[in-house]
Amino acid sequence: MDHLDKLENKSIHILREAYSEFDNLAMLWSVGKDSTVMLWLARKAFFGHVPLPLVHIDTGYMIPEMIEHRDKLAREWELEMIYGVNEEALEENRTFPEGDATHLECCENMKTEALKRTLDGSWPRYRLNHNTGEYELDDNKEPYTGVIVGGRADEEGSRSKERYFSARDENNDWHVSEQPPEFWSQYKTDFAPGTHVRIHPILDWTEVDIWEYIQRENIPIVSLYFDQGEGERYRSLGCYPCTDTVESTARNVEEVVDELKSGKFSDIAERDGRAQDEEDGGGLESLRREGYM
Ligand code: SF4
Repeated sequence: MDHLDKLENKSIHILREAYSEFDNLAMLWSVGKDSTVMLWLARKAFFGHVPLPLVHIDTGYMIPEMIEHRDKLAREWELEMIYGVNEEALEENRTFPEGDATHLECCENMKTEALKRTLDGSWPRYRLNHNTGEYELDDNKEPYTGVIVGGRADEEGSRSKERYFSARDENNDWHVSEQPPEFWSQYKTDFAPGTHVRIHPILDWTEVDIWEYIQRENIPIVSLYFDQGEGERYRSLGCYPCTDTVESTARNVEEVVDELKSGKFSDIAERDGRAQDEEDGGGLESLRREGYM
Protein backbone atom coordinates (compact mmCIF):
# COMPACT_ATOMS: atom_id res chain seq x y z
CA MET A 1 0.00 0.00 0.00
CA ASP A 2 1.20 3.50 -0.70
CA HIS A 3 0.84 6.49 1.61
CA LEU A 4 -2.59 7.50 0.31
CA ASP A 5 -3.88 3.91 0.56
CA LYS A 6 -2.87 3.81 4.23
CA LEU A 7 -4.56 7.12 4.98
CA GLU A 8 -7.67 6.00 3.12
CA ASN A 9 -7.81 2.68 5.00
CA LYS A 10 -7.52 4.31 8.40
CA SER A 11 -10.16 6.92 7.60
CA ILE A 12 -12.58 4.29 6.32
CA HIS A 13 -11.96 2.21 9.46
CA ILE A 14 -12.80 5.23 11.67
CA LEU A 15 -15.93 6.03 9.65
CA ARG A 16 -17.19 2.45 9.96
CA GLU A 17 -16.30 2.33 13.66
CA ALA A 18 -18.21 5.57 14.26
CA TYR A 19 -21.25 4.34 12.35
CA SER A 20 -21.35 1.06 14.27
CA GLU A 21 -20.82 2.66 17.72
CA PHE A 22 -23.03 5.77 17.70
CA ASP A 23 -26.72 6.38 17.11
CA ASN A 24 -27.99 9.66 15.68
CA LEU A 25 -24.77 10.47 13.91
CA ALA A 26 -24.40 13.24 11.32
CA MET A 27 -21.55 14.37 9.10
CA LEU A 28 -20.63 18.04 8.74
CA TRP A 29 -19.99 19.17 5.20
CA SER A 30 -18.61 22.68 4.70
CA VAL A 31 -18.25 21.99 0.93
CA GLY A 32 -14.51 22.73 1.24
CA LYS A 33 -11.85 20.32 -0.01
CA ASP A 34 -11.31 18.47 3.30
CA SER A 35 -14.91 17.66 4.11
CA THR A 36 -15.54 16.80 0.45
CA VAL A 37 -12.69 14.26 0.62
CA MET A 38 -14.25 12.94 3.85
CA LEU A 39 -17.59 12.62 2.09
CA TRP A 40 -15.89 10.74 -0.73
CA LEU A 41 -14.32 8.39 1.84
CA ALA A 42 -17.75 7.83 3.39
CA ARG A 43 -19.12 6.83 -0.01
CA LYS A 44 -16.29 4.32 -0.27
CA ALA A 45 -16.77 3.09 3.31
CA PHE A 46 -20.47 2.37 2.73
CA PHE A 47 -20.29 1.19 -0.87
CA GLY A 48 -21.56 4.29 -2.62
CA HIS A 49 -24.38 5.16 -0.23
CA VAL A 50 -23.83 7.61 2.63
CA PRO A 51 -26.07 6.25 5.42
CA LEU A 52 -26.17 9.37 7.56
CA PRO A 53 -27.28 12.98 7.12
CA LEU A 54 -24.91 15.64 5.79
CA VAL A 55 -25.24 18.86 7.78
CA HIS A 56 -24.18 22.22 6.42
CA ILE A 57 -24.20 25.40 8.51
CA ASP A 58 -25.14 28.32 6.32
CA THR A 59 -23.65 31.51 7.79
CA GLY A 60 -25.58 33.70 5.37
CA TYR A 61 -22.22 34.78 3.93
CA MET A 62 -21.26 31.68 1.99
CA ILE A 63 -19.74 32.20 -1.45
CA PRO A 64 -22.63 31.37 -3.83
CA GLU A 65 -20.58 28.81 -5.79
CA MET A 66 -20.28 26.78 -2.59
CA ILE A 67 -24.05 26.51 -2.19
CA GLU A 68 -24.41 25.57 -5.88
CA HIS A 69 -21.71 22.90 -5.55
CA ARG A 70 -23.33 21.55 -2.36
CA ASP A 71 -26.71 21.14 -4.00
CA LYS A 72 -25.30 19.73 -7.24
CA LEU A 73 -23.42 16.95 -5.44
CA ALA A 74 -26.29 16.39 -3.00
CA ARG A 75 -28.57 15.63 -5.95
CA GLU A 76 -26.06 13.57 -7.92
CA TRP A 77 -24.99 11.50 -4.93
CA GLU A 78 -28.51 11.34 -3.44
CA LEU A 79 -27.35 12.71 -0.12
CA GLU A 80 -29.56 13.21 2.90
CA MET A 81 -28.77 16.93 2.89
CA ILE A 82 -29.66 19.26 5.75
CA TYR A 83 -28.74 22.83 6.53
CA GLY A 84 -29.17 25.07 9.56
CA VAL A 85 -28.83 28.84 9.89
CA ASN A 86 -29.06 31.41 12.69
CA GLU A 87 -32.08 33.27 11.31
CA GLU A 88 -32.47 35.45 14.42
CA ALA A 89 -28.94 36.83 14.24
CA LEU A 90 -29.34 37.60 10.53
CA GLU A 91 -32.64 39.40 11.14
CA GLU A 92 -31.22 41.33 14.10
CA ASN A 93 -28.00 42.25 12.24
CA ARG A 94 -25.78 40.52 14.80
CA THR A 95 -23.23 39.82 12.09
CA PHE A 96 -20.01 41.13 10.58
CA PRO A 97 -19.37 43.29 8.57
CA GLU A 98 -22.93 44.39 7.76
CA GLY A 99 -24.19 44.25 11.33
CA ASP A 100 -22.78 45.51 14.60
CA ALA A 101 -20.87 42.37 15.64
CA THR A 102 -17.12 41.76 15.65
CA HIS A 103 -15.63 38.85 13.71
CA LEU A 104 -15.65 36.64 16.77
CA GLU A 105 -19.20 37.56 17.79
CA CYS A 106 -20.40 36.91 14.26
CA CYS A 107 -18.63 33.52 14.19
CA GLU A 108 -20.16 32.67 17.56
CA ASN A 109 -23.62 33.59 16.29
CA MET A 110 -23.50 32.24 12.75
CA LYS A 111 -21.27 29.20 13.25
CA THR A 112 -21.01 28.07 16.88
CA GLU A 113 -24.57 28.81 18.01
CA ALA A 114 -26.09 27.78 14.69
CA LEU A 115 -24.20 24.50 14.80
CA LYS A 116 -25.13 23.76 18.41
CA ARG A 117 -28.83 24.47 17.85
CA THR A 118 -28.94 22.65 14.52
CA LEU A 119 -27.34 19.55 15.99
CA ASP A 120 -29.50 19.50 19.13
CA GLY A 121 -32.66 20.01 17.06
CA SER A 122 -33.85 23.08 18.97
CA TRP A 123 -33.75 25.29 15.87
CA PRO A 124 -35.31 24.57 12.47
CA ARG A 125 -33.40 22.33 10.11
CA TYR A 126 -33.98 22.38 6.36
CA ARG A 127 -33.85 19.12 4.43
CA LEU A 128 -33.42 18.69 0.67
CA ASN A 129 -36.47 17.08 -0.92
CA HIS A 130 -35.03 15.10 -3.82
CA ASN A 131 -38.41 14.99 -5.56
CA THR A 132 -38.86 18.76 -5.74
CA GLY A 133 -35.20 19.81 -5.55
CA GLU A 134 -36.15 22.29 -2.79
CA TYR A 135 -35.29 22.52 0.91
CA GLU A 136 -38.16 22.00 3.34
CA LEU A 137 -38.54 22.29 7.08
CA ASP A 138 -37.37 18.99 8.56
CA ASP A 139 -39.91 17.22 10.82
CA ASN A 140 -37.13 15.31 12.56
CA LYS A 141 -36.03 17.22 15.67
CA GLU A 142 -34.01 14.38 17.21
CA PRO A 143 -30.63 15.63 18.46
CA TYR A 144 -27.53 14.39 16.70
CA THR A 145 -25.33 13.15 19.52
CA GLY A 146 -22.25 12.61 17.40
CA VAL A 147 -20.87 14.45 14.42
CA ILE A 148 -18.20 13.47 11.91
CA VAL A 149 -15.95 16.39 11.05
CA GLY A 150 -13.27 16.95 8.39
CA GLY A 151 -10.72 18.66 10.65
CA ARG A 152 -7.01 18.05 10.01
CA ALA A 153 -4.32 18.28 12.70
CA ASP A 154 -1.87 20.22 10.50
CA GLU A 155 -4.38 22.83 9.42
CA GLU A 156 -4.40 24.95 12.55
CA GLY A 157 -2.92 24.72 16.07
CA SER A 158 -5.99 23.86 18.13
CA ARG A 159 -7.03 21.09 15.72
CA SER A 160 -3.79 19.24 16.47
CA LYS A 161 -5.13 18.68 20.00
CA GLU A 162 -8.14 16.73 18.79
CA ARG A 163 -8.52 12.95 19.07
CA TYR A 164 -10.12 10.80 16.38
CA PHE A 165 -13.00 10.45 18.84
CA SER A 166 -13.17 13.76 20.77
CA ALA A 167 -15.76 14.33 23.46
CA ARG A 168 -17.59 17.56 24.30
CA ASP A 169 -19.55 17.78 27.56
CA GLU A 170 -23.28 18.50 27.89
CA ASN A 171 -22.52 22.24 27.44
CA ASN A 172 -20.53 21.49 24.28
CA ASP A 173 -17.29 22.45 26.10
CA TRP A 174 -14.02 20.78 25.13
CA HIS A 175 -11.73 19.67 27.98
CA VAL A 176 -8.52 19.42 26.01
CA SER A 177 -6.22 18.12 28.75
CA GLU A 178 -8.60 15.36 29.87
CA GLN A 179 -8.80 13.48 26.58
CA PRO A 180 -7.78 9.81 26.61
CA PRO A 181 -4.86 8.62 24.44
CA GLU A 182 -5.58 6.65 21.27
CA PHE A 183 -2.73 4.15 20.97
CA TRP A 184 -2.53 1.36 18.37
CA SER A 185 -5.85 2.22 16.72
CA GLN A 186 -7.73 1.63 19.98
CA TYR A 187 -10.42 4.27 20.40
CA LYS A 188 -12.60 5.19 23.34
CA THR A 189 -16.14 5.16 21.99
CA ASP A 190 -18.17 4.78 25.20
CA PHE A 191 -18.93 8.10 26.84
CA ALA A 192 -21.16 9.33 29.66
CA PRO A 193 -24.78 10.19 28.77
CA GLY A 194 -25.08 13.74 27.47
CA THR A 195 -21.62 13.65 25.90
CA HIS A 196 -21.42 14.96 22.38
CA VAL A 197 -18.75 13.24 20.29
CA ARG A 198 -16.83 14.65 17.34
CA ILE A 199 -15.19 12.13 15.09
CA HIS A 200 -12.23 13.16 12.92
CA PRO A 201 -11.54 10.53 10.23
CA ILE A 202 -9.00 12.67 8.32
CA LEU A 203 -7.08 14.04 11.30
CA ASP A 204 -3.74 12.72 9.94
CA TRP A 205 -4.06 14.06 6.40
CA THR A 206 -1.95 17.02 5.26
CA GLU A 207 -2.95 19.64 2.72
CA VAL A 208 -0.82 17.92 0.05
CA ASP A 209 -2.34 14.51 0.91
CA ILE A 210 -5.80 15.99 0.38
CA TRP A 211 -4.91 17.40 -3.03
CA GLU A 212 -3.06 14.28 -4.17
CA TYR A 213 -6.07 12.19 -3.19
CA ILE A 214 -8.43 14.56 -5.03
CA GLN A 215 -6.16 14.12 -8.05
CA ARG A 216 -5.97 10.33 -7.75
CA GLU A 217 -9.70 9.84 -7.22
CA ASN A 218 -10.86 12.64 -9.52
CA ILE A 219 -13.09 14.10 -6.79
CA PRO A 220 -15.29 17.01 -7.90
CA ILE A 221 -14.14 20.15 -6.09
CA VAL A 222 -15.59 23.64 -6.17
CA SER A 223 -13.80 25.78 -8.79
CA LEU A 224 -13.00 28.54 -6.27
CA TYR A 225 -9.82 26.63 -5.45
CA PHE A 226 -8.47 27.35 -8.94
CA ASP A 227 -7.24 30.47 -10.69
CA GLN A 228 -9.90 31.72 -13.09
CA GLY A 229 -7.42 33.90 -15.00
CA GLU A 230 -6.90 36.65 -12.45
CA GLY A 231 -3.79 35.20 -10.81
CA GLU A 232 -5.50 34.28 -7.52
CA ARG A 233 -7.39 31.43 -5.95
CA TYR A 234 -8.75 30.36 -2.58
CA ARG A 235 -6.50 28.07 -0.59
CA SER A 236 -9.02 27.73 2.22
CA LEU A 237 -12.72 28.46 1.81
CA GLY A 238 -14.97 30.35 4.19
CA CYS A 239 -17.37 33.28 4.29
CA TYR A 240 -16.73 35.87 1.58
CA PRO A 241 -16.29 38.90 3.90
CA CYS A 242 -13.55 37.14 5.88
CA THR A 243 -11.64 34.96 3.44
CA ASP A 244 -8.84 36.17 1.20
CA THR A 245 -7.43 34.56 -1.89
CA VAL A 246 -3.74 33.77 -2.42
CA GLU A 247 -1.67 34.77 -5.42
CA SER A 248 -1.58 31.73 -7.66
CA THR A 249 -1.88 30.71 -11.28
CA ALA A 250 -2.85 27.10 -10.49
CA ARG A 251 -5.82 26.37 -12.75
CA ASN A 252 -6.49 22.72 -11.91
CA VAL A 253 -5.77 19.99 -9.36
CA GLU A 254 -2.44 18.99 -10.93
CA GLU A 255 -1.18 22.55 -10.80
CA VAL A 256 -2.32 22.96 -7.18
CA VAL A 257 -0.37 19.81 -6.22
CA ASP A 258 2.72 21.09 -8.05
CA GLU A 259 2.39 24.49 -6.42
CA LEU A 260 2.13 23.05 -2.91
CA LYS A 261 5.06 20.69 -3.50
CA SER A 262 7.19 23.55 -4.80
CA GLY A 263 7.21 24.98 -1.26
CA LYS A 264 5.66 28.26 -2.39
CA PHE A 265 3.42 28.32 0.69
CA SER A 266 5.78 26.62 3.15
CA ASP A 267 5.99 29.79 5.29
CA ILE A 268 2.33 30.73 4.97
CA ALA A 269 -0.32 29.00 7.07
CA GLU A 270 -3.14 27.37 5.15
CA ARG A 271 -5.76 29.50 6.95
CA ASP A 272 -3.75 32.71 6.63
CA GLY A 273 -6.60 34.28 4.67
CA ARG A 274 -9.15 33.67 7.43
CA ALA A 275 -9.68 36.90 9.38
CA GLN A 276 -11.41 35.29 12.38
CA ASP A 277 -8.29 33.23 13.20
CA GLU A 278 -6.26 36.42 13.69
CA GLU A 279 -8.89 37.95 15.92
CA ASP A 280 -8.78 34.85 18.10
CA GLY A 281 -5.12 35.49 18.92
CA GLY A 282 -3.74 33.73 15.85
CA GLY A 283 -5.62 30.48 16.46
CA LEU A 284 -9.10 29.22 17.03
CA GLU A 285 -8.79 27.63 20.41
CA SER A 286 -11.14 29.91 22.36
CA LEU A 287 -13.82 29.55 19.67
CA ARG A 288 -13.27 25.79 19.40
CA ARG A 289 -13.52 25.26 23.15
CA GLU A 290 -17.03 26.67 22.88
CA GLY A 291 -18.11 24.53 19.99
CA TYR A 292 -16.67 26.05 16.79
CA MET A 293 -15.52 23.52 14.21
S1 SF4 B 1 -16.27 34.02 8.98
FE1 SF4 B 1 -16.93 36.19 8.93
S2 SF4 B 1 -18.98 36.28 8.00
FE2 SF4 B 1 -18.51 34.11 8.53
S3 SF4 B 1 -19.46 33.82 10.50
FE3 SF4 B 1 -17.33 34.41 10.90
S4 SF4 B 1 -17.25 36.67 11.05
FE4 SF4 B 1 -19.26 36.04 10.19
